Amino acid sequence: MRFIICYIEIRVNIPICVHNCKISSCLQKKTKSNEELKGDEQMEEKLHKIKKEDEKTETGEIKPGINLQGFCENIECLAANARLPVWVNEEFKEISFFSDKTLYRCPDCKQSTVTSITKAMFLNSEYSISTNGDLIQVKDNNHYQYTYPITPGSSYKLKAQKIRQHATSLKDLVTRSETAMISDEIIKLVKELEKYSITVVKPEKVKDEVRLSEKIKYDYKGDYNQVFDIGRFTILCEDQTNLKTAVMVMKEAKKFNLIVSEDKDFFEKQSRTHHRFHNIKLYVPKYDVYVEMQATLKRYTTLEGYSMIENPKLSHSYYELLRAWEPNNPEDDDLKQASHEILTKINDVICEWIDDKAIQKMANRYRPHSDIIVLKPPQIFKKSEGEIKNNTALEMIQFVYEQLCKFTPEKVKGKAVYVLLYEYYKKYIIGDKNPASCIDFALLLQESRKQEMIEDVAISQALEMYIPLQANNYPYIDNDDNKKDDSYDCHQHMMEFLDREEEKKQNGKYERQVMVVQGKSGSGKSLFCRHLEKSLWESYMNDSTIIPIYISLSKHYNELNEKQIISQALQMKQINKEIMDVIREHASFVFILDGFDEIFDKYNKNSNDRYFYDRFNLSEWNAKTIVTCRSHVLNDEDIKQ
Ligand SMILES: [Zn+2]
Repeated sequence: MRFIICYIEIRVNIPICVHNCKISSCLQKKTKSNEELKGDEQMEEKLHKIKKEDEKTETGEIKPGINLQGFCENIECLAANARLPVWVNEEFKEISFFSDKTLYRCPDCKQSTVTSITKAMFLNSEYSISTNGDLIQVKDNNHYQYTYPITPGSSYKLKAQKIRQHATSLKDLVTRSETAMISDEIIKLVKELEKYSITVVKPEKVKDEVRLSEKIKYDYKGDYNQVFDIGRFTILCEDQTNLKTAVMVMKEAKKFNLIVSEDKDFFEKQSRTHHRFHNIKLYVPKYDVYVEMQATLKRYTTLEGYSMIENPKLSHSYYELLRAWEPNNPEDDDLKQASHEILTKINDVICEWIDDKAIQKMANRYRPHSDIIVLKPPQIFKKSEGEIKNNTALEMIQFVYEQLCKFTPEKVKGKAVYVLLYEYYKKYIIGDKNPASCIDFALLLQESRKQEMIEDVAISQALEMYIPLQANNYPYIDNDDNKKDDSYDCHQHMMEFLDREEEKKQNGKYERQVMVVQGKSGSGKSLFCRHLEKSLWESYMNDSTIIPIYISLSKHYNELNEKQIISQALQMKQINKEIMDVIREHASFVFILDGFDEIFDKYNKNSNDRYFYDRFNLSEWNAKTIVTCRSHVLNDEDIKQ
């Protein structure tokens, strides 16, 4: 005990005394082992803790179920030394004890040294208590919290179980709930709440039966008596003060012959789903049923028609999909886990568990679908609606994709939610290797172009000093100094060709739009192509949607696989094969096929069909095509086709 006094003195800053005490204790004990010293340090820490919790009169935590208050007799226990009563939680069960001959576990010293009980408290439970065999009449029975004094020298039997409905069937539960919701008792309470300008929303009708059965199946393993929200009121408050009033009014429900049975405050403490609310269950004795009052602030609710949040259904619809999903492989397990995490984060934004600044920061990353064009995930590409409906994983993937295409938020929270969903989509549904949007796809291609330029020093240097090419509509003839003077700027001409109204896709095929550029060997065709590509990328970065693809035919042409030439060229540019179909559907291109003359011999040997447009399967792509070729390789017949 000397030590205890000593350290309390430290706290009140009387150093001389401390010094003396320490010395005297050392002298008394002469030497102290390290272990003892360590113990002393721990003791010191603990004592500080106890003293810091000023005015603390009891220790241990009160939790749902049975709570017993008593005294610990362990001489080494801090609570015991301070004569603080301790709370022991026994959860939901049936227990019996003799009030001064108990051995409950002390929450402080963790020893079974709580030998006497002085009080019992039931929290959020249905309970009974009897002494010496007689059931104690519980008059004022608020199920959510009830305290009963325990007298010494008596035997007690206590029982607590989780609150549950007492219906005989789901239909019975629905009937009881519906009747209770329009009962005088409840109506009076609702009127009382409305006096404080609190909005009380009663659901139009109870949940539709299919969804209700599904919820019971997944959330309660089929036990309908665990469902409390069949009769649920949503109570919407302007601000925290208003909410406190609402809770206060509901806690007084006794005067309307209702019993407050459970009170869960998920307003400052996070619920499992991170929705922010205060939930009170009211027991309506007349119909032997519980109804639920869920109170929250107007700005947190996702209730349709009342929500201030854009796309309020997103969070709940997503939740319902995840709930019904039973993954049967490890990858899906991981995806489900990640999906739940992102749903929680979405709720963190909606309910402001994340601070304003962080929400704003997320929202700043928002770019609408119309700008970035979210790519359809390969998983659901070419899958029928039926196939998707039969597979929850695919259904979930489709849901997220559709949300990203349809949802166009304007407010900060909405944008932050979109960004969360998109970043999750990118990482977990599309995967890091593949592009999730046309913008991502374009970035990948630009990276590849950079690489090609590094490898081709000659071209990249020549591009810096590029001189515009002139062109005519007829083949160039040596020594012709262009007396007609009808030449034009080749680049300009090309841009006009590319700017021409995009022709509509017909019968699933794109219009043929091809331009052939011919010139003598060394006239600068390749350089022209690279220059055109560069300037098309520049306009893409502004607001064009056309993506230029430069393809050196000599590098990419394979006479055995002509039809795949574009796809293979894209793969060389780091685009994965699995997303080729998706790309084909979403993006529009200019293919710049350079050096047709260089493959002409191989090309001619391969087939009698001369027209490259079909042989390269170009009609599959939403693209305009530019082909370069040395003069006099193609004859007029070839070009006309
Ligand atoms: Zn103890």
